[in-house]
Amino acid sequence: MESTNKTIGFIGLGIMGIPMAKNLIKSTFNLIVYNRTHSKTKELAKLGASVAKSPAEVASQSNYIITMLTDSPDVEQVILGTNGVIEGINENTVVIDMSTISPEITQTINEQLVAKNCALLDAPVSGGSWGAVEGTLSIMVGGEKSKFDECLPLFNAMGKNIIHTGPSGMGQTTKLVNQILVSGTMNAVAEALVFAAKAGADLEKTIQAVGGGAAASWQLNTLGPKLIAGDFEPGFMVKLQQKDLRLVIETAQKLNVSIPGTALVSQLFASLLARDLGDEGTQALVKAHENLSGVEARVN
Ligand code: NAP
Repeated sequence: MESTNKTIGFIGLGIMGIPMAKNLIKSTFNLIVYNRTHSKTKELAKLGASVAKSPAEVASQSNYIITMLTDSPDVEQVILGTNGVIEGINENTVVIDMSTISPEITQTINEQLVAKNCALLDAPVSGGSWGAVEGTLSIMVGGEKSKFDECLPLFNAMGKNIIHTGPSGMGQTTKLVNQILVSGTMNAVAEALVFAAKAGADLEKTIQAVGGGAAASWQLNTLGPKLIAGDFEPGFMVKLQQKDLRLVIETAQKLNVSIPGTALVSQLFASLLARDLGDEGTQALVKAHENLSGVEARVN
């Protein structure tokens, strides 16, 4: 794919979408963007992107279309709804949904696009807003392998670890595996730091000591220092983590598989939503453990 003669539509300019779109522009792709809240398109327009008034208008002018939206109903609405992508799409267009949504709904959207002689790749990401800015996201992709190969130059502009994991929906399934792992690890970090605080340990030195050994993790080494500093700014918001755990639990029920650890972590995140903390970063999970043990895991 020659970057300069292909137009990429980009829909959904949130925490992740803006830096991902910027990296495509950096790799010299032509971009046409749409965002429900129009003001968020300004930054991209300044960098040379065209701005469309609807997803259908994006589709009518694009060879490839990327969506980076919140949840399954949002992706359904933007692709299949009124003024949606499907109303403007040209034959042979590949739609790449990089949001985290249901594997099952992904498959139904794929079927509708295939009926229009188009295709859907589900390509959710891991690596947080930092990975989106640096262009180092892990991208797990489901869908036709030939379409995956065709889209590799786009993926390479946004990520580093890019794996085709199977047919339509399998990218989303892989992402749910990722979410079991990251939420469980975040829970262990929060619980461990509350334990350390109650024991009177030096929290910075504790992270330094255990973060260099077998207990090292991205959650401990990157989010741990933020958490003890009282920095709860989101890379990844609690409400989005809880949305993903809902998808994990729904999928586990369909698969008839037991996921007791994830169910527990989901209940702890639910306690944060009950306290109106959904817009904080996932490191705020420590507040649930602090509440249980009556101690704050904070420096200063
Ligand atoms: P975000 O900042 O909340 O952005 C969501 C975007 O979707 C916004 O542009 C929003 O438009 C748009 N949107 C939502 N519903 C819509 C609808 N019905 N119609 C049109 N536009 C709609 O979220 P984010 O952090 O970028 O996350 C996006 C996706 O990536 C989510 O599925 C998330 O789970 C996944 N993800 C996030 C991270 C992370 O660290 N943040 C990491 C990996 C994966 P408005 O601006 O108008 O609200």
